[in-house]
Amino acid sequence: MRMRTLAALIALTLPAPLLAAPATPDRPNVVVIFCDDLGYADLGCFGATNYATPNLDRMAAEGAKFTDFYVATAVCSASRAALLTGSYHERVGIRGALGPRTNVGLSHAETTMAEMFRSAGYATGMAGKWHLGARPSQSPIHHGFDEFLGLPYSGDMWPHHPEHPEGYPKLPLIEGDRPAIADVTAEIQKSLTTRFAARAVDFIGRNKDRPFFFYLAPNMPHVPLFVRDDNAGKSGAGAYGDVIREIDEAVGSILSALREAGVDDRTLVVFTSDNGPWLSYGDHGGSAGPLREGKGTSYEGGVRVPFLARWPGHIPAGLVQPQPAATIDLLPTFAAIAGAEPPAPQIDGLDIRPLLFGEPDARSPHEALFFYYGAGELQAMRLGKWKLMFPHETRTMLGQAPGRGGTPGKYRPLAVGLELYDLDSDVGETNNLAAQHPEIIARLQQTADAMRARLGDRLTGHAPAEVRPADTARD
Ligand code: MG
Repeated sequence: MRMRTLAALIALTLPAPLLAAPATPDRPNVVVIFCDDLGYADLGCFGATNYATPNLDRMAAEGAKFTDFYVATAVCSASRAALLTGSYHERVGIRGALGPRTNVGLSHAETTMAEMFRSAGYATGMAGKWHLGARPSQSPIHHGFDEFLGLPYSGDMWPHHPEHPEGYPKLPLIEGDRPAIADVTAEIQKSLTTRFAARAVDFIGRNKDRPFFFYLAPNMPHVPLFVRDDNAGKSGAGAYGDVIREIDEAVGSILSALREAGVDDRTLVVFTSDNGPWLSYGDHGGSAGPLREGKGTSYEGGVRVPFLARWPGHIPAGLVQPQPAATIDLLPTFAAIAGAEPPAPQIDGLDIRPLLFGEPDARSPHEALFFYYGAGELQAMRLGKWKLMFPHETRTMLGQAPGRGGTPGKYRPLAVGLELYDLDSDVGETNNLAAQHPEIIARLQQTADAMRARLGDRLTGHAPAEVRPADTARD
């Protein structure tokens, strides 16, 4: 509120040309598109063959495709917390998927990506699924976004849930921090992907003369699947294909809007997903392709996601980047690109500009990436080509009857042992090399212990030393 008042005051006292500093090629606009439950192999450029994604494939051809890009964890809220704070979710106290009735949300003490951009003079906007606090005081407009249109949490947390119809209140569509629509119906759900993309397009038009940051978080392809009536059946690959096709169309509309606004070559567009596919939904879930398992697990299918980045003239066209990187790296990378101050508190992400710009011999800046899940369990880590799974309980659909038509199948429990995989030769994590390489396990355990001392680990009884509390709202 204080920011807006100040801006209004400046508007009254300064001549118009001084109001907005134009974005320069060195200080680009940034658009982040963050899908929900989109699997590693759900795009044509990542191996999908049963439907077409021409706009996303073009993004890959004109920009970079990262083959080894990770989320912090394979579930919605926690993954979003990591994206927006540049920190492991465990560090900022957000776990799992927040329900509609909880008062837990992202702490106001954290510096979000939007606040970082705002401090550098950017206009900031968001449309789509937030899922970091459902109370008015926890809305994106209280975390650095000038504006917000979207859902407070997942679209299946509504009275029409296939398994828990009694479990959820009416689903609102929020504008700012208040419901614009109090009871989202199936008809409204059909319009959301288009509505959110249209807000992005509108925002780009309104802000083309100053640096801007827009965060588009489609609530698709998370169940329940919806597309506009005129897009139903168009993909030739069922409801899931239709949804991906509509997301691709939305991306195309944003790329067109950037061109029409004359900011195409000074806008960095990033496209990725919050976690792997929800495999229990069968034909209404996505595909992890060659990767093992999906959402809710720390195998590659849960945590490795498609990643595209396009910035003409800066990111080499057609770059394929195999170095490991993660959503936590985007905030510090954007801070460097925008000339913004990185957040004051400790974060975990690192600047990956050399990887993004395809510098020769660029290496991942991380010694290792860590995958926490559930109630503070360090379930897995990646170091170089090695993936180490720590003993824990997870879930699998292997051997189970798959879901159909929006009704899920049932996972069965799976006990994970100490498992070591060579991802260079075994991306599907099928051949456990733990017994052959005790020396590598010892080295990885040592690296893991250093992280356990910082963020804790319920599996090994380590207490956290650096974890910061989440918000607990009173409204
Ligand atoms: Mg998700």
